[in-house]
Amino acid sequence: MMVLSSSKNRYWQMLFSILLLCLLVLPAHAVTIKNVRIWPAPDHTRLVFDLDKPIRHQLFTLDKPDRLVIDLDDTRGQDSIEKLPLKDTPISRVRTAVKSGSDLRVVFDLNSKIQPRSFLLKPNKQYGHRLVVDLVYKEKKTVKNTAPIPRVDPTGQRDIVVAIDAGHGGEDPGAIGPGRVREKTVVLAIARKVERMLNAEKGFKPAMIRTGDYYVGLRARTERARKHRADLFISIHADAFKDSRPRGSSVFALSQRGATSETARWLANSENSADLIGGVNGALTLDDKDKVLAGVLLDLTMTATLSDSLKVGQSVLRSMGQINKLHKRDVEQAGFMVLKSPDIPSILIETGFISNPREAKNLQSSAYQEKMARQIVAGIKRYFGSNPPPGTWLAHQKKRLSQGSYVVSRGDTLSGIAQKNKISVASLRKANNLRSDALRVGQRLTIPRS
Ligand SMILES: [Zn+2]
Repeated sequence: MMVLSSSKNRYWQMLFSILLLCLLVLPAHAVTIKNVRIWPAPDHTRLVFDLDKPIRHQLFTLDKPDRLVIDLDDTRGQDSIEKLPLKDTPISRVRTAVKSGSDLRVVFDLNSKIQPRSFLLKPNKQYGHRLVVDLVYKEKKTVKNTAPIPRVDPTGQRDIVVAIDAGHGGEDPGAIGPGRVREKTVVLAIARKVERMLNAEKGFKPAMIRTGDYYVGLRARTERARKHRADLFISIHADAFKDSRPRGSSVFALSQRGATSETARWLANSENSADLIGGVNGALTLDDKDKVLAGVLLDLTMTATLSDSLKVGQSVLRSMGQINKLHKRDVEQAGFMVLKSPDIPSILIETGFISNPREAKNLQSSAYQEKMARQIVAGIKRYFGSNPPPGTWLAHQKKRLSQGSYVVSRGDTLSGIAQKNKISVASLRKANNLRSDALRVGQRLTIPRS
C-alpha cells in the first residue's frame, strides 16, 4: 500500500504549479517567428524574420566549412526557417536546434564566404516587428552593366547614360492592385523593356538600379546612379491611390517648396516611407528626410538640374499622353527622396494607377508594358535630341548636322575648297581631322560654320 507523505505531496504540488506556470508564462514571453522571407540580390542575400515582438539575437560566422550561426533568445517557430527556398543564395542548407530549453539556434551552411549584418525594424503599415539579416558577399559577384564609366571618354563621343530605377522591390511590394498585382513586379518588367530599347539605341547606355526582386534603399538608388555617371535618372512606378477611380499617367520632379497638388504630396510621403518597409538599417523618419531635402535644395546646382528635370519630364509626359490618359497635363512636383541628386536630372514616372482596375489590367499585359516603355524612351530621346550633353555622341551628331558638307570632285584642292567656303585651310583640316592635304574624289568633307 502506498502512502505519500505530506512533504512528498507538497513537492508534487509545487512541481505541478511550476509546470503550469511555465505553460502559462512561456508563450507570453517567447518570441514567435511567424514567417521568414529570403531575397537574393547581386551583392547580398537578405533574410527577413516576421516576429510577434522584438527579439534578442547574436550572429557569428564559422569556417571550415563556412557557416553562419544565428542565436535567437527564447524563440519558437523554426518550421518556416527550414522551408526557405535557397536558390540563388550562398546558403546550401539550414539547420535549427533548440538550445538551453527555449533558445533557438539557426545554422546556415554556406557555399561562399559572407559578411553578416543584422538589424531590427519596428512595425509599420505592412509588417510587424522584423529581424533583418543580410549576408553580404565577400567575393563580389560581378553583374553585367555595372562597370563604372570612365570620367573622360577619349573620343569625345561617349554614350548618354540613363539610370533606370524600378521602384520598390523585395520586402517592399509597392502598391498592390486588384488581383494582388504588385507594383514592384510591373515596374521591373517595364524598366527591363526600357533598358532593352535604350541598349539598341546608338548613343545611349542604360544602367539598371535594381535587376531583380530585392530592395534597394532610396539613398543607395541615387548613389548607384552617380556611380554610373548617369545623365538622367528615371524612377518607374505604378502607385495606388486611396480610391480606385483616379487613372492616367503622370510625371514628377523634385519640389523646392511644398507639393504642386494634394496627390503629389500624398504620393511623395508614401514613396519616402519605402525605406521603413523595404528595410534600411537606421531608416530615416519622414522628418529627417525633410531636413535632408532642405539641405540638398540649398545647393545652387539644383536650380539648373531641376529645370532640366522639368524639361525631360514634360517630354516623357507628352510621349505617354499618346497612349494613355494623362492624370495631369504638366509635370508635378513634390519632395521625393529618390529625386534628390543635386546634379543628375531626375524624374519619377507614374505609368498609371494600379488601384484602378482597368489600368491594373493594362499594366500587367506585356504588350502594354512594351508600348509604355517605347513612349518613355521616345520622350527621353526627344529631350536629348535637342539638349545633348557636351562630349556625347549625340552632341557630336547634332554638331555635324548643323554644319555644311562638301563632296570632293576631280581637281579639287584643300585650299580651293577652303577659299570657296570662305574658311581657313587650318579650320577645314581641323574639322575633318586631316593630317595631309591629299584628297580623294567622292570624299565628304565637313565645312565648319565660321
Ligand atoms: Zn511606387
